[in-house]
Amino acid sequence: MPSVEDLYQEIILEHNKHPRNFGMMEDATVSANGNNPLCGDEVKVLLKVEADRILNLKFTGQGCAISKASASIMTEALIGKSVEDAKLVSSRVLESLNGKGGELELETDGDIASLYGVRKFPARLKCATLAWHALEAALSGKGSVSTETGN
Ligand code: ZN
Repeated sequence: MPSVEDLYQEIILEHNKHPRNFGMMEDATVSANGNNPLCGDEVKVLLKVEADRILNLKFTGQGCAISKASASIMTEALIGKSVEDAKLVSSRVLESLNGKGGELELETDGDIASLYGVRKFPARLKCATLAWHALEAALSGKGSVSTETGN
């Protein structure tokens, strides 16, 4: 039996290899750039929001496997959700990764749970949170965010 850690790692590697919703979006309504100077990750999150619902969500940029997988997992989890629900998921993920929230579980959180495995590597946490910070920046009308000033 593979351990949960193995499963988490497998999910991250798979998303890194085959990122979902990667690329530009011509009709995006909001977007934001995220920058993690610690690792050199750069991610741009693009959303098409209509009537408070996320109709489409994509990302571009370059970064390490964790930052890319995290963005890929995020797009898959949030497309079709209301802005309010997306914000709830996002703050739950960020709180969890920062040790202020509960654990993320594979059964209830799906691929998102794999990010919880990154907690074992504190130096890489900002790689995992980058896309989510960029998402929150985009949804709150900020054009960019850097992990240097937040967590
Ligand atoms: Zn990184």
